[in-house]
Amino acid sequence: MTNRLDLVDTNAAGHIAIGGVDALKLTQQYGTPLIAYDTGAIRRQIRSFQRVFEDLNIAHRVVYASKAFSSLAMYQLAAESNIGCDVVSGGELYAALKGGMRPEMIEFHGNNKLPHELEYAVDAQIGCIVVDNFQELHTLQAILADRQQTMRVMLRVAPGILAETHEYISTGQEKSKFGFDIRSGQAARALQEMLADDHLDVIGVHCHIGSQIFDVQGFIGAAKKMALLLRDWNQEFGFDAQVLNLGGGFGIKYTGEDDPLPAEEFVKTIIEVVEYKVNKYHLQMPAIWVEPGRALVGDAATTLYTIGSSKHVAGVCDYISVDGGMGDNIRPALYHAKYEALLADRPHAENTQVATVVGKYCESGDILVEDCPLPPTHPGDVLAVPATGAYGYTMASNYNRNPRPAVVFCENGESRLVIRRETYADMLRCEVGIAQ
Ligand SMILES: *Cc1c(COP(=O)(O)O)cnc(C)c1O
Repeated sequence: MTNRLDLVDTNAAGHIAIGGVDALKLTQQYGTPLIAYDTGAIRRQIRSFQRVFEDLNIAHRVVYASKAFSSLAMYQLAAESNIGCDVVSGGELYAALKGGMRPEMIEFHGNNKLPHELEYAVDAQIGCIVVDNFQELHTLQAILADRQQTMRVMLRVAPGILAETHEYISTGQEKSKFGFDIRSGQAARALQEMLADDHLDVIGVHCHIGSQIFDVQGFIGAAKKMALLLRDWNQEFGFDAQVLNLGGGFGIKYTGEDDPLPAEEFVKTIIEVVEYKVNKYHLQMPAIWVEPGRALVGDAATTLYTIGSSKHVAGVCDYISVDGGMGDNIRPALYHAKYEALLADRPHAENTQVATVVGKYCESGDILVEDCPLPPTHPGDVLAVPATGAYGYTMASNYNRNPRPAVVFCENGESRLVIRRETYADMLRCEVGIAQ
């Protein structure tokens, strides 16, 4: 078992620091709630993915799954780091392009891409569309025929692998809403249709088995299944995949109890399995693409809150309320996700109470951390919740008309505002009202 203090860095003053910047200084400068990213940590994580492939001399692409934290600043950082990104909507595509991602480095996912989103992707000449179902295939074919344009595509299959994770974030099972299933012959039929269309350049196959996965067995199973599929399709259709995309889902550490394999270990294992099978089946080695989202940004951010009221229910529990909650981090309410919380100015202080940290939203489910060990706390203390970099800001809402928090990037002791805090006026910007 590891220590929850491993989740944070501390400075000489004994305060939590993010990218070398004192957490208290950040809250004084930018207010709370505040999401503070250590961008050095993101860069190191990107490099560690790239390095595994480079060391093993494997053609590859690291594709940032941008739904984890879609923001101009993050697309800019990804573009600078020479990785690709995926998008799952026209809105993400728009932001990725605005953030300077080169179109050819973008791939488009989703189980219900809208016709206008497909047109947008085709017009922007993005790198590849990951085709999910027949309806989408036919819509895309019509768009391409109309424009006399070609598009690189990948075929998403549901490999029939059940990853050990929460049901809502498990996507590889046959019953999944994503991708063509293999067993019924759907996937093979889709491939045949795609190969027969001159406007489609079928570069490979894709699967994604789920998210926050700790056990490498799921990835091994998926890699084996996909290699077998490539062998079958090579024999039946003479298809040589240039790309085998094994998706993302690499787990990160949220609490002292979490002990995930380092992402590069997952990747190394995946590569070894694919190489072994490809040699065994006498196939050409495809480039391997992986799509980490959470693993690139998740543990790089810490959310800083200010403690407000508290409530003692004798013999039941103690509540400590903060100035954010489910509006900036829905994951505990949505998936029963677990986090830790520490006091920003005294993370090492002795814990004397066990309290439930709740938000300010009008829902009893608005709980950030249940049964959290803490030292004595006072209104005005800054509470830090580590590992909030993925699926936090991107799932944020204005529920109860609370503005979404500000986001800062911190590195080498410097901070920079990358998303400003919403104002009350921002929250009304789309509202037309009835008195015009
Ligand atoms: C969400 C998603 C990812 C990223 O998942 P993480 O758990 O954040 O790594 C990758 N690929 C696809 C297709 C996804 O839907």
